[in-house]
Amino acid sequence: MKKKPAIAIVGAGMGGLAAAATLRRFGCDVSVFEQATRFARVGAGIQVSPNAFRVLRGLGLEPHIRSFAFQPPSWRSRVWDTGEEKFDYPLGPAAEKRYGAPYLQLHRGDLHAALASLVPKEALRLNQRLTGIDQAADGVTLHFEDGSRARADGVIGADGTHSRIRELLLGPEKPAITGRVAYRTVFPVSLLNGYRIDDHTKWWGPDRHIVIYFVNNRKDEVYFVTSVPEPDWALESWSAQGDLGTLRKAYAGFHEQVQRVLAACPQVHKWAIVERQPLPRWTEGRVTLLGDACHPMVPYMAQGAAMAMEDAVVLARCLDGCDRDGVQEAFTRYEGVRKERTSRVQLTSHLNQWMGGNTNADWVYGYDAWTVPLEPQPARMPAAT
Ligand SMILES: Cc1cc2nc3c(=O)[nH]c(=O)nc-3n(C[C@H](O)[C@H](O)[C@H](O)COP(=O)(O)OP(=O)(O)OC[C@H]3O[C@@H](n4cnc5c(N)ncnc54)[C@H](O)[C@@H]3O)c2cc1C
Repeated sequence: MKKKPAIAIVGAGMGGLAAAATLRRFGCDVSVFEQATRFARVGAGIQVSPNAFRVLRGLGLEPHIRSFAFQPPSWRSRVWDTGEEKFDYPLGPAAEKRYGAPYLQLHRGDLHAALASLVPKEALRLNQRLTGIDQAADGVTLHFEDGSRARADGVIGADGTHSRIRELLLGPEKPAITGRVAYRTVFPVSLLNGYRIDDHTKWWGPDRHIVIYFVNNRKDEVYFVTSVPEPDWALESWSAQGDLGTLRKAYAGFHEQVQRVLAACPQVHKWAIVERQPLPRWTEGRVTLLGDACHPMVPYMAQGAAMAMEDAVVLARCLDGCDRDGVQEAFTRYEGVRKERTSRVQLTSHLNQWMGGNTNADWVYGYDAWTVPLEPQPARMPAAT
């Protein structure tokens, strides 16, 4: 009988957890190694587009996520000062009918917790910071900072933008600092003292923008995320606090809705926005990469976690049914299926035009990672939005 491969996943972000959950559904032996000592619920929202929702549906999370997430009627784009509408992409029931899955907004911590609930405690090792890997013909040894080791038939590097595994495969190279900053936070709507705001709007300024939306179906928590020039700030840290005075000044002159939200906001996190060009390859032997580790992107299409979760499903499907000797071939196949799409999304995000004018989102939202043919996709140019 074929022996299923034992897979080690490094990183328990959205991508690593989705990969672990999917592989477990296929009966694989999976261990997840995460450097953090615990999962913190940091104030941030996340948009789950229909392509991402399909992943969650396949993992059995649909009823849970629907029970609390907010379904916006549209993705609205407005001019920063006058509020004039630039474009309004129908979401709500219209998107659900068109794509067969909803477009939802929720707290990032709630999505992470939902995915984590699918991975049993014994498969998740916290406080394990990977430092090195050794590949042999019959498997991989993982080395951790505390001196411990683990052995697996295949390793998935889901360790984020500054991936140690990416560095080990492709050599050191820092991601590009864009010189722009995401200020973001979630706070109670009650702080707006009854002032009404849109359900989901991106306010487009000449060189900066801000996106504001609700993160639950009670509409009692609001989230915003900015992209604003601050060339001297290069830190990506969930604990870094931003200065409210600086933030409010940066958006002086924006529409009253923006001013009111920023005035009411009690505190804010500050995060440097980084990206990479598509990588030449993701896989070496029995080791491959997934999510931000191989295709970090600027967040202007709200697709980073969606791409990581799609990767997870396609990778698990490629591994499904293979034995320990088939890991390398499965990883190479996965890369061939996924690289064209994620590169296209990376490059389209970079343009920051998504939903700023007439946009056809079908190629992004219509994708189904559970059924897409497992065949290599030819490279194409970035999409004209
Ligand atoms: C401002 C902003 C807004 C965004 N909004 C959206 C959105 O609305 N929708 C969307 O789909 N995406 C969004 N994204 C993108 C999304 O957050 C990321 O693409 C996604 O979190 C990537 O998931 P990941 O699992 O690949 O990496 P990560 O979430 O970064 O997880 C990597 C994990 O690996 C661990 N790790 C790192 N190194 C090691 C090591 N050496 N050993 C062990 N563990 C390690 C880390 O601690 C971490 O837990 C946004 C991003 C930003 C910056």
